[in-house]
Amino acid sequence: MRVFKFGGASVKDAEGIKNVYDVLQKVGYEDVLLVVSAMGKTTNALETVIKNYFDKSAELNSSVQEVKKYHNQILMDLFEEEKHEVFTAVNNQFSDLEYFLAHNKSPNYNFVYDQIVSYGELISTTILSNFMSFMGIKTQWLDVRNFIKTDATYRDAEVDWELTQKNIAKNVKRKILNITQGFLGSDENNFTTTLGREGSDYTAAIFAYCLNAESVTIWKDVPGVMNADPRYFENASLLNQISYREAIELAFYGATVIHPKTLQPLQKKEIPLFVKSFINPLLPGTRVAKGADLEPYLPCFIVKRNQLLISLSSIDFSFIMEENISEIFALFHQFKIKVNLIQNSAISFSVCVEDKFENFKDLNAILSKKFKVDFDENVTLYTIRHFNDKAAQTVEENKTVLLKQVSRETMQVVTKES
Ligand code: ASP
Ligand code: MG
Repeated sequence: MRVFKFGGASVKDAEGIKNVYDVLQKVGYEDVLLVVSAMGKTTNALETVIKNYFDKSAELNSSVQEVKKYHNQILMDLFEEEKHEVFTAVNNQFSDLEYFLAHNKSPNYNFVYDQIVSYGELISTTILSNFMSFMGIKTQWLDVRNFIKTDATYRDAEVDWELTQKNIAKNVKRKILNITQGFLGSDENNFTTTLGREGSDYTAAIFAYCLNAESVTIWKDVPGVMNADPRYFENASLLNQISYREAIELAFYGATVIHPKTLQPLQKKEIPLFVKSFINPLLPGTRVAKGADLEPYLPCFIVKRNQLLISLSSIDFSFIMEENISEIFALFHQFKIKVNLIQNSAISFSVCVEDKFENFKDLNAILSKKFKVDFDENVTLYTIRHFNDKAAQTVEENKTVLLKQVSRETMQVVTKES
């Protein structure tokens, strides 16, 4: 069996969904499981709904209507007549969502989040599987919540592999086109859970692992895994093949093509992962497999903007020791600040971090009691895997380098644009 993943961008409109059909025609769809995300930016739109719900905002209803309108337009573009049963099916899903909003009593934000945000995937797969049947492909729509079982950590649920494995082995039919939702699971009480934002790649890997699949293909709007983001680098080139190890490293440093959790289950069973273009599905794309690195390595560039460089030094000239460092890290964790680079010397300690939730001000108040705190906002962190002089020059040119760290394979530079 092959597992295919189509992300939000690939199904953002009727054109995109028709294109999924074309891809399947070209690459085959027998004995395939499709894992599909919410359409376009639906997950973000549903996050707005959730926010409005908790804020008791007057915009709540209109934000729901917006999501409805968007999907309705897609339905109208795909199916000639409104009598098609998919209209009722999608309408019922929206009614369920509205019923939940009207009757929910739980004040637990993360719980409510998962119950609501999941409609994005439930609706997208309903539309997609109806469209494939409409076009004459026999499909089986699977509610992923009957397969992927998790703990009750809403918004970041942990997979119960044993139960999941049993469900998948027993109930996924071979030899047909199966369509299911990415990103979702369910807990012991059958409440919906989610695996973390952008988690659909991971879903594909979970199914592949449990099915002993032949391969996983992630269909993207780029030709495959590139050595740099073509939006920021001229001459970005496609990596024809990379090892799991290299892919994990790239994902770790922030390359966004593959969700970092995806690789581990695949690597364990040595299931190859392909990243291919949904525009040119017959091109080979990138193959991620065991020991597949091409040598010599191309330098790979990963850019993280909007970082914060913090330097802590001791007030009384004492050393910064393990004890301080573990305390500092506990604070970063507590304030949900992600550390992307660490450098320390005897009396100072520098970190480049991402403050997604804008908590640094509060953290700084605590740190300043014990340390002298210096920081630079809005800096950029460049990581170059397999760097060479020319690659280093590319990122340092016309910039002020605030910090640099070099190891055998990887060079990281924190810069301020000047
Ligand atoms: N729809 C979810 C998200 O946007 C999951 C995914 O796309 O992978 O985060
Ligand atoms: Mg998405």
